[in-house]
Amino acid sequence: MSTRKLKFKTELNQLMDIIVHSLYSHREVFLRELISNASDAIDKLRYEALTDRSLAGADTEWQIRLVPDKDAGTLTVSDNGIGMDEETVIRELGTIARSGTKAFLERMKEGKQASAPDLIGQFGVGFYSAFMVADKVRVVTKAAGEGAKAVSWESKGSGDFTVGDTEREGHGTDIIISLREDARNFLEGWELRNLVKRFSDFVAHPIVLVTEEEKEDKKERKEETVNSQQAIWLRPKDEIKEEEYASFYKHISHDFADPLHTIHYSAEGTLEFKALLFLPAQRPFDYFTAEPKPRVQLYVNRVFITDACENLLPQYLRFVKGVVDSSDLPLNVSREMLQDNPMVRKIESNLVKRILGALDDLKTKDYEKYVTFFKAFGGTLKEGVARDYANREKLASLLLFQSTRTEDGKYLTLDEYIGQMPEDQKEIYYLCGDRMGSLRQSPYLEVFKDKGQDVLLLDEPVDPFFAESIGEYKGKSFKAVDQGALADAPEVDEAHAKAYEKLLKYLSDSIEEVKEVRLSSRLRESAACLVADEGQMSAQMERLMKQFGNEMGETPRILELNPAHTAVQTILGLYEKDSKSEDVAELGRLLLDEAIIAEGSKIKDPSAFARRVNMLISRQAG
Ligand code: ADP
Repeated sequence: MSTRKLKFKTELNQLMDIIVHSLYSHREVFLRELISNASDAIDKLRYEALTDRSLAGADTEWQIRLVPDKDAGTLTVSDNGIGMDEETVIRELGTIARSGTKAFLERMKEGKQASAPDLIGQFGVGFYSAFMVADKVRVVTKAAGEGAKAVSWESKGSGDFTVGDTEREGHGTDIIISLREDARNFLEGWELRNLVKRFSDFVAHPIVLVTEEEKEDKKERKEETVNSQQAIWLRPKDEIKEEEYASFYKHISHDFADPLHTIHYSAEGTLEFKALLFLPAQRPFDYFTAEPKPRVQLYVNRVFITDACENLLPQYLRFVKGVVDSSDLPLNVSREMLQDNPMVRKIESNLVKRILGALDDLKTKDYEKYVTFFKAFGGTLKEGVARDYANREKLASLLLFQSTRTEDGKYLTLDEYIGQMPEDQKEIYYLCGDRMGSLRQSPYLEVFKDKGQDVLLLDEPVDPFFAESIGEYKGKSFKAVDQGALADAPEVDEAHAKAYEKLLKYLSDSIEEVKEVRLSSRLRESAACLVADEGQMSAQMERLMKQFGNEMGETPRILELNPAHTAVQTILGLYEKDSKSEDVAELGRLLLDEAIIAEGSKIKDPSAFARRVNMLISRQAG
């Protein structure tokens, strides 16, 4: 028999350190996590065995077993599920970086340890939560299928783990936890019974508690099924308590926090299914970094089919967790069949309708809660505007925005924006940027403030994409204030146009970085700004495309100057004195730098910028 010692992935090691040393409250959740894994393992095998009979062998009496052993001080959680081979064990329990680990560790470092269980819940440590109560964990597992070899895995939770050969009768997994001195309560039958009732009652497979009882000096083994296995989604709504919903939600989502909102209904008529869906209260850690996984589980008549049915919900509703149980699909439905199934498509559009309806309800009836939801997932909803044409308007009506008029932390909807538009305003104005703070200071807003018109301020990464794709809302088109000409901005006055004509031509020729230099009608306090030409991509959109790996080169933009600004007038004065002056072009470039900084971009040549500023300073002195 060979045993190998392997090191945990560094990030996992740090994570384990936190789990072992600083998580004391709510540590009973380890049992829920292990039962959840056991149940998943059984579901996986049951599903695979639908198409490959040889996998499950004779064993179809699915079971999760809890075996406390007071003499040994161990609690064993066993299942007869799919099991793991050596490669899987090493990968899944030690060497693969769990997505979001970095972000999680950073948040922990910020000293938010008090709320560690909440953090860890969003992050979901799963199997590793066993180390909250264990001195040592041993895993004995054997994959389903002919010729599989049993593997053992063992660790004290820091630094390294060992992997070796072992024996196990059938397929499945035993997690053997050597309980810490202060966690011996998890050996008590009543404690385990309670925890299963609280956290895992609805698990579809029997959870069997195996205890020993002293009887006339003899020890007797007793087996009892401790969960009711009742599918919560089939029960009538008014009989289900909030806590029951919450604990079911935690079971399927691995979230420690309660759900923000629950949607439970049953569709009847041409389409029959039950749906129990949840909106999480917080954004999971790996929400933006991990491959988005749909988390709505599909059941057929109470039998788990898959949690990887991608067409059950569109990507932009990927934050929704829950269960759909259909009685129209065949039990032996394969993944391929689900791919392009008209029934699944019908279920999807029904779910989407209900979810959007529920969001609308929440917005009207519990606005505070809706804002919490929107802060976490509003960005995702915006993706839907581009992707789901049929629901575009409904989705757009659900969006919340900050604008030049909203106070910090307050929002307005598109309908509210339109409702407040002055009569002469034809378009919905918006400005995209990286930070709300600099957006509010942006020179592009000056003319709008002047005219009492509101501008939506968009600071999420998805926003440039969203704004391009929405096009219009209720007949009002979206218009970027840093792009093209403004339909209802005042004309540049004729005297100015004439006075500046030659200078503009000179600057246009000498500043190659820009397409054109022209006079602006959108500035009040600022001297200059850069605008994209009509139909040209905005600076934010270009940056976004670059982030996604689409290098498309930058399109030169238009430099606009404020003819009434002293700095601009001074340059005109210099030019009129000496039309060949080098200084004029240099100062023009300085205005370009200024415009670049004001829109939140980076100047290409900071040392040239410094040289120009220095020139100005020494000119003052000299
Ligand atoms: P998660 O369950 O969120 O994927 P875990 O850390 O709990 O994360 O588990 C990591 C992986 O280890 C699982 O995805 C699964 O592949 C494997 N695993 C854990 N427990 C079991 C089990 N009882 N049977 C089979 N595989 C398991």
